[in-house]
Amino acid sequence: MNILIINSGSSSIKYQLLEMPSAQVICTGMIERIGSTKSISTFKSKDYRIENISKITNHKEGIERITALLLDSEKGVLYSTEEVDAIGHRVVHGGSEFTETTLIDNEVKNKIKLFSPLAPLHNPANLVGIEMAEKIFNSAKQIAVFDTAFHGTVPVKAKKYAIPNEFYNEKGIQGYGFHGTSHKYVSEIATEYLEKQNAKLISIHLGNGCSITAIKDGKSIDHSMGFAPSNGLVMGTRSGDIDHAIIFYMVNTLGYSLDEVNELLNKKSGMLGLTGFNDLRDIESEASKGNTSCILALEMNAYRIKKYIGAYIAALNGLDAIIFTAGIGENSSLMRQLVCKDMDYFNIHLDDAKNDLRSSTIREVNSLDSKVKILVIPTNEELEIAKQVFNLLT
Ligand code: ADP
Repeated sequence: MNILIINSGSSSIKYQLLEMPSAQVICTGMIERIGSTKSISTFKSKDYRIENISKITNHKEGIERITALLLDSEKGVLYSTEEVDAIGHRVVHGGSEFTETTLIDNEVKNKIKLFSPLAPLHNPANLVGIEMAEKIFNSAKQIAVFDTAFHGTVPVKAKKYAIPNEFYNEKGIQGYGFHGTSHKYVSEIATEYLEKQNAKLISIHLGNGCSITAIKDGKSIDHSMGFAPSNGLVMGTRSGDIDHAIIFYMVNTLGYSLDEVNELLNKKSGMLGLTGFNDLRDIESEASKGNTSCILALEMNAYRIKKYIGAYIAALNGLDAIIFTAGIGENSSLMRQLVCKDMDYFNIHLDDAKNDLRSSTIREVNSLDSKVKILVIPTNEELEIAKQVFNLLT
């Protein structure tokens, strides 16, 4: 069965065509910097690697570009769109409606739309991907895999906000949790690696969006992102935890509109707001040259992660392993070092030499005397989505 995975972010689309159940990757690629005149399209198959810079205005054009790459008569991998049996769409917010992988119909699309205000950077882009795929790959089954689904096991005491009950009972205001596909994938690999079914794990996903999850017996029991993918850790452009009184102060006293504050907290804050750079590689490079705002931003970022680790050790009543994953978690040895520094009380000890090694597979970067394992596990949301789509259809 050929399954195409479409993983749309705010300004990018990752895609992958796999044959299941062999999990053989037929091709993979990405459209980056959507909305810019210099969008980057990449395509990689067994025989070809293409990288192209062109103007891609929006996600619709991004999907058209992906289709053209797949069907390219010389370097493509498909003769016809009918060779795709199913499309797995990553959908960020599924509210409390969707705790399972779901076949998409009009009702499902309407509900995804309904949740758009809760994930404004993602759900609208996910919907465009779905609608375009329905048109272009009209013989394929369209399936949604929700980022929120893995966190359906978080107990009420952890996901309910301390505001009047009606908001939880009647209006769906609660913590939902995100990056579930990634946290599920890496935690399953860790469980297998540790050979311990009831492992106590803390999974740290550090990409453009960043989140941290406490996992017990394979189930998410707490998560740093809340009602929307904005709470918790310091991210590329999102502030993470912030005292809500600041929002009222910005509006009532400083004269910002609510839309401006929303834009500020989602798109102009985080590492970008602190340093002027969004990409951690730039921030690390500036910090190494002595840029003080970059040095402080890295420290703030790591300090926030440390606080959540402490909280989740308390929630789990112990810890077997910490997992670092996603672009920053997998690649930034500096961020791992800053996070794991001075954690002796918890018996968390990093091995600096192991931490500096690079690898595309799971690796242990703790020292031998560390009671807690520190694992770097490359995430593979596309493979996890493909598995879930295949399971649903078979
Ligand atoms: P997304 O959340 O969009 O899927 P990724 O998981 O691809 O994002 O992570 C993107 C982040 O990873 C960027 O901030 C980028 O700077 C960071 N990153 C990628 N490679 C490195 C590296 N070698 N060192 C430090 N940061 C890196």
